[in-house]
Amino acid sequence: ESIELSRLLQTTVASFEKAYQRKVELRCTQEIHLTTDEQKLKQLLYIFMDNARKYSEEAIEVNVERKENHVAIRVMDRGIGMSQKDLEKVFDRFYQVDESRTEGYGLGLSLAKELAHALRADLQLSSEKGSGTTATILLPRSEDSHLQGV
Ligand code: ATP
Repeated sequence: ESIELSRLLQTTVASFEKAYQRKVELRCTQEIHLTTDEQKLKQLLYIFMDNARKYSEEAIEVNVERKENHVAIRVMDRGIGMSQKDLEKVFDRFYQVDESRTEGYGLGLSLAKELAHALRADLQLSSEKGSGTTATILLPRSEDSHLQGV
């Protein structure tokens, strides 16, 4: 279905902030129309925001960058981060970094992988131990949204 991304992000962020009493700084100024599965995209965003919430204490940041063929949505936190070694494994089912075995089951990111596959999106995770993590969702822009331009 055709959606407008900035509105979807606003409503998703607002419900997340209300549910968890955590500040999310959303930076998305322009309207972006694209064809995607709204429900799956919301679930995907929630997984990354939920991790940012669990593994950091400061405000979470969500920003959007529009490229010619895709849209990059980034969820960033300034939390505990993780090592490169762990980064390679966190998408596996049930994998949790030793220090963070307090909450959850290690399933969020494996579900994220499946959702991304269904959305034909790519995921990138970058992290540095002690300084934070950035998750990027690269969503393809369809032909007709491309023609809509703006
Ligand atoms: P849940 O089943 O509730 O999703 P989870 O958060 O442990 O639990 P994943 O979302 O799959 O599961 O994440 C796997 C592991 O990756 C986490 O246990 C944590 O160690 C690490 N991780 C994920 N996101 C972050 C982040 N933003 N900062 C630091 N570590 C993270």
